[in-house]
Amino acid sequence: MADTVNALPFFYGNITREEAEEYLHLGMSNGLYLLRQSRNYLGGFALSVLHSGRSYHYTIEREPNETYAIAGGKSHRTPVDVIDYHSQEMDGLVCLLKKPCNRPKNMQPKVGPFEDLKEKLIREYVKQTWNLQGTALEQAIISQRPQLEKLISTTAHEKMPWFHGSITREDSEPRLQNGSRISGKFLIRQRDVTGSYALCLLHEGQVMHYRIDRDRTGKLSIPDGKKFDTLWQLVEHYSYKPDGLLRVLTEPCARPDGDIGLTRPLLPRDHPGLTSALQNAAGGILYKLRNVPIPGLKKSRGSRPNDTDNLNPYETRVPNNQAGSKEAMPMDTEVYESPYADPDELRSTTVDRSQLFLEDGELGSGNFGTVMRGIYKMRKTEKQVAVKILKNEDNNQSVHEEMLREANVMQQLDNPYIVRMIGICEAENLMLVMELADLGPLNKFLQKNKQTSIKNITELVHQVSMGMKYLEEHNFVHRDLAARNVLLVTQHYAKISDFGLSKAVAEEQNYYKAKVHGKWPVKWYAPECINYLKFSSKSDVWSFGVLMWEAFSYGQKPYKGMKGNDVMQMIQSGTRMDAPLDCPLEMYTLMRTCWTYKADERPGFSVVEPRLREYYYDIAQ
Ligand code: ATP
Repeated sequence: MADTVNALPFFYGNITREEAEEYLHLGMSNGLYLLRQSRNYLGGFALSVLHSGRSYHYTIEREPNETYAIAGGKSHRTPVDVIDYHSQEMDGLVCLLKKPCNRPKNMQPKVGPFEDLKEKLIREYVKQTWNLQGTALEQAIISQRPQLEKLISTTAHEKMPWFHGSITREDSEPRLQNGSRISGKFLIRQRDVTGSYALCLLHEGQVMHYRIDRDRTGKLSIPDGKKFDTLWQLVEHYSYKPDGLLRVLTEPCARPDGDIGLTRPLLPRDHPGLTSALQNAAGGILYKLRNVPIPGLKKSRGSRPNDTDNLNPYETRVPNNQAGSKEAMPMDTEVYESPYADPDELRSTTVDRSQLFLEDGELGSGNFGTVMRGIYKMRKTEKQVAVKILKNEDNNQSVHEEMLREANVMQQLDNPYIVRMIGICEAENLMLVMELADLGPLNKFLQKNKQTSIKNITELVHQVSMGMKYLEEHNFVHRDLAARNVLLVTQHYAKISDFGLSKAVAEEQNYYKAKVHGKWPVKWYAPECINYLKFSSKSDVWSFGVLMWEAFSYGQKPYKGMKGNDVMQMIQSGTRMDAPLDCPLEMYTLMRTCWTYKADERPGFSVVEPRLREYYYDIAQ
């Protein structure tokens, strides 16, 4: 949304109410309006309208289901839709919105003070919290940016000099009285772990203490005061306007170096490299992420996540800050990084049978045999694994070779959005030991979980495009990309699997030519695969379009009831599948682009992934 709104000529960014009034009063016509960024609600906007010489201001809140509304009013898909609606209907507004008040020439929307800091904070946060670097770090930021931004926004106050942690009222007073005693000098202290704070303000030599409470929806306010999503927004607001306080905030009272007085213990053993400042900033969060058993994650993996909040049995949540809980991110799981990322683990292509323990219960089965759950004891850790076991009676040479070929391809790949091979075990049967993706195939998951949000589906499909972009960059073609071959680690973490048909292709030639037609998933295949037996990353893009269709139709079968030949004729004649019910137009348009007939004109994953990313950020931020 941010990019779309930024491009609007009547969007002013992070300006104050007073600044908005100045712009409107230059125009002086009834119904003149402008849009600005909300200074108290994350992701929200404010609409300012001029009527009979006075300005009126309405908050456009971003609602939990990704819609926008003026408090108590009708919900709309975007803030622009809110404006369009109110140009036709007053519906509670003081007048109709008649004319946009555009920004003066050469003025860009004003960037808020937090924006500059944000990028740096996100990077540092990911680096320190999950101990990531290089590609793993970049991929974490790309795939989880909206969540990370939210997290950073709500914890950024811990980085601010005016935040003194959980010190007492008595401790706060000498801090304010020391050094400069300018009126308006202030600090914020934490009152208790339920998320209430106090604003301590020096006024004419006396320290005033204002309580900051958190309401049931997580919003912060001084009693009867304006509500804010974050402490830094509150500070920003009272720094330009007293709004009920004895005076505006002027000078932050810097906390004594390194002393943030957090009530929760820091965990230096987790992150020995932390600088003290960052340790302070991230300490609280680290504790929240690491010391609470997370169903389905890290230590407690192996059993299906518990239904902790009756929302959805597969929704894995990490207890988080005072405002409630947050969903687990891919980096919280033990399969985000390669099992061999730890240099102390011996990288080996073979798995010692004595260290592999198979458990009861099949995860699934295929032509070759079964997939079982197991535990693999590595040097330092024990890993939950999936073990693909070749049927004994099928120990026929060609299937055996096929499975080894699959293992060979997988062994060359290392990406968070691809199921990694841990090793091959040749014992009573040939076994492929892989990372475990507990929630199984995407199509089945969506068939059973119809309440999964579009945002969630877009997040997963975007992750698949990231994995596919990696394959494209490394000159591999998958050749069997379909929702059944995307496995879920959590509801928010997808991995591409089943490399049985995959091939490495030469960089110069960049396609694989099959010798003969096989038992192929033709409904997922591009025309050139069927007509010329030619497979490339571009034909994977076609399959990806079908996978998107499956995902947005909650696991329905594509071209339902049709035979392969009929599908080929349909494609040949220029017809494509209709959009799934309630599928966002942007996503259907992208599917149609993936189904461009000529491979040369079809985009690669280097184009598809950023398009998905942009849409995902737009709906998730
Ligand atoms: P074929 O090679 O005959 O096409 P297939 O595609 O059915 O077989 P897989 O997809 O490799 O074979 O595995 C079959 C099923 O086993 C999957 O649909 C899934 O339910 C389960 N499975 C496979 N790999 C894993 C894994 N790494 N983690 C969890 N479950 C898995």
